Amino acid sequence: MIPLTDVSLQVLSTNPALDRALDSDLDPEQASWQKIVNESIRDISALLQALGLPDQSHYSNFPILVPGPYLSRIERGNPNDPLLRQVISTVQEVRDVPGYIEQPLNESTFAKTSGLIQKYHGRVLLIVTGSCAINCRYCFRRHFPYQDFQPTSKDWQRIIDALMNDTSINEVILSGGDPLMMSDKRLKWIVQQVETIPHIDTIRIHSRLPVVIPQRITKTLIEILAESRLKAVLVTHINHPQELDETVSNAMLALQRADVLLLNQSVLLKDVNNDAEILSTLSKQLFKANILPYYLHALDPVAGAAHFDVSGKEAEEIMSVMRASLPGYLVPKLVKEVPGQPSKSPL
Ligand SMILES: *Cc1c(COP(=O)(O)O)cnc(C)c1O
Ligand code: SF4
Repeated sequence: MIPLTDVSLQVLSTNPALDRALDSDLDPEQASWQKIVNESIRDISALLQALGLPDQSHYSNFPILVPGPYLSRIERGNPNDPLLRQVISTVQEVRDVPGYIEQPLNESTFAKTSGLIQKYHGRVLLIVTGSCAINCRYCFRRHFPYQDFQPTSKDWQRIIDALMNDTSINEVILSGGDPLMMSDKRLKWIVQQVETIPHIDTIRIHSRLPVVIPQRITKTLIEILAESRLKAVLVTHINHPQELDETVSNAMLALQRADVLLLNQSVLLKDVNNDAEILSTLSKQLFKANILPYYLHALDPVAGAAHFDVSGKEAEEIMSVMRASLPGYLVPKLVKEVPGQPSKSPL
């Protein structure tokens, strides 16, 4: 399965009545970003029309999904826009390229219990939802078997037990899909569950929502993170300086004031950001928005994304230009995910 956008699958409590309450959306703050999600563009003709580009159509095994606030940052009439390239399907996607496979990270083998993936010491990844607010063409999870990982109410108790019994774990990372696709009520419930485990002191959220729909950073969300005893870390996924605007910066400022550590990871993508100047500008813009660059990921060799590949040599050259022109704290770490290694691997 791929990021599930129309099906709302998420971690379930052990109580159906509670589940209904966690998803009931009478809160106007929630309704506002959820409306943006629902009104997103879902087909290529609509996308091209909205951008004043000539219509074309091609088959893709991964649907188009572009929310309004992200669309508004794409330049009209420019078929080569770096944001457009991240969301538009192309014929290159359906080509078979040797070495590009459906599940490059072989994550299924690391699952401790359904929904819980541990690869590295001290931290676990929790798949809390299969939904995303945007479909990124380069996504390494585009063929991910989410259904097999979706924690149900039975699994949830097992996850909590597994975390409780392993005192070596001090950080829980919420992942997906996109964990901020969950309602604030459900997120709060998960945070409270994690808080019951005494040896866990950090909660980390990896999300693309703060940049693609900044309205997702609600007052309630900020309160949940500010009030928790857990140290909160938000890792945004921003690939290009054009993705940042004032609405994003304002959302980030509010999070920073709530003592949330803000980090960013990017994916190095051909014809999007494989350029030292673009990435240096990104680092500086992130800094202005109170976010520090964390990782620059080499593309995972997922089937359908080969046209985004940047060679290791080129990546190194880009890094050396960045190191020579930026303070150390604005240089992200260039890493690659190598299955079986004890951490992300430096390139
Ligand atoms: C990337 C990743 C992490 C986080 O690694 P950090 O180096 O701490 O950012 C944790 N678990 C899994 C399974 C991951 O893929
Ligand atoms: S990169 Fe993240 S937000 Fe984009 S499709 Fe993949 S999981 Fe969803």
